[in-house]
Amino acid sequence: MRIAMIGTGYVGLVSAACFAEFGVEVVAVDNNQSKIDCLLKGSIPIYEPGLDDMVARHAAAGRLNFTTDMKRAVEHADAVFIAVGTPSRRGDGHADLTYLFAAAEEIAHSLTANAVVVTKSTVPVGTGRRLQQLFAKLRPDLVIEIASNPEFLREGSAIEDFLRPDRIVVGVETAGARQVLDRLYRPLNLIQTPILFTSIETAELIKYATNSFLATKVTFINEMADLCEKVGADVQAVAQGLGLDRRIGNKFLHPGPGYGGSCFPKDTAALLRIAEEANVPQRIVESVVAVNEGRKRSMVRRIVQACGGSVRGQTLAILGVTFKPNTDDIRDSPALVIIPALQAEGAVIQAYDPEGMTAADAELPGVVWCQDAYGAMDNADAVVILTEWNVFRALDLEQAKRLLRRPIMVDLRNVYEPRDMIAAGFSYSSIGRPAANSAYATEKADA
Ligand code: NAD
Repeated sequence: MRIAMIGTGYVGLVSAACFAEFGVEVVAVDNNQSKIDCLLKGSIPIYEPGLDDMVARHAAAGRLNFTTDMKRAVEHADAVFIAVGTPSRRGDGHADLTYLFAAAEEIAHSLTANAVVVTKSTVPVGTGRRLQQLFAKLRPDLVIEIASNPEFLREGSAIEDFLRPDRIVVGVETAGARQVLDRLYRPLNLIQTPILFTSIETAELIKYATNSFLATKVTFINEMADLCEKVGADVQAVAQGLGLDRRIGNKFLHPGPGYGGSCFPKDTAALLRIAEEANVPQRIVESVVAVNEGRKRSMVRRIVQACGGSVRGQTLAILGVTFKPNTDDIRDSPALVIIPALQAEGAVIQAYDPEGMTAADAELPGVVWCQDAYGAMDNADAVVILTEWNVFRALDLEQAKRLLRRPIMVDLRNVYEPRDMIAAGFSYSSIGRPAANSAYATEKADA
């Protein structure tokens, strides 16, 4: 089979490479010339573990091609997938569909035969219907069938998620489109992946419902962590106790500085706009969004508190700026709120992130970027862990103590054990654990 993948970002490039892995011939298109140049030269423009090898392998075999030429990509394609960005529209939180409709128009003008057009981008309910109308208007001479195939992969484990997903969701209304998607996903069907065929509207909503539910789970455990701190419970154990209940599950129950990333913030906002327009308010998700916003600010207060009530004139080492490990994506990362707020409080920031510094540099003026975690801690007054990259899990604490002016660590990802940190001589503050402040921890350690 042959497909065209429009957009070579985090979703488009992974999907293109993984469909090639299924044996499909893929032409991936992007209107960003430098991304395509980079791909044609054999490098990849994003960091995603394992993706470089997979892309290289299929490009060498001729199964995966890159171009900026939409016409070349869509001719002879059994399906055209749209995987362009749908960010939050400035000001109102609606999904910005400018890129999607621009891509759709270009597809319409480029097609030379009947085709199935599949939306992989996350789009508001009703978008598939609008695409149907657009194609009917622009190409009445062709039969263009629309399908919705929302993507659930996670950055950092995107290949595994694509190749071994929990389920595939396909919104279709025509037998032709269903047959094409059935064939494309046959390799997953063979490994017993549930493939859920629904209406287009239902498929569109499943994606928003999923991300909103996951954001709710994260926010729930974050608020529970605050309660744990006040009542002397340990949120790690509470999360474990909760997660072992199979009705709940243990995923997305890790307390932290608030969710971020390219999906949860914009998708929860978009769901609220969709609900508002339908006049069916989603009060739970409204609260989740508000609590999460407040949480990032409360993290700033927590850091300032751990540093003695003021960070004016202090140097802070920040470890991690991406919204999670194993990606270079910094979109809506909590670091983008927390770091400027600390700078506004008068702190100088020395930061290190294994993959995110290039993207973060443009967003975080004034930050001194360092070679590694130890460079960031050199002569700093405290160290703050914002992202749980593996390299931050086994820091040489003796060296850290020698480099820091004061042995203060604020661990917003609960990477370390309070008892170990106290024993190592740190003043250690983490999330939702009885030892969140060292006085309490010292008491416990002495007991
Ligand atoms: P991205 O910004 O990384 O990539 C989008 C790409 O589309 C860019 O390379 C851009 O240059 C290209 N593009 C834009 N307009 C184009 C056009 N007219 N023709 C060709 N290329 C065009 O975005 P992403 O993170 O891959 O997300 C894409 C969609 O997938 C979004 O709707 C997002 O919500 C959804 N999604 C993302 C993730 C994720 O983890 N990033 C997961 C699931 C779903």
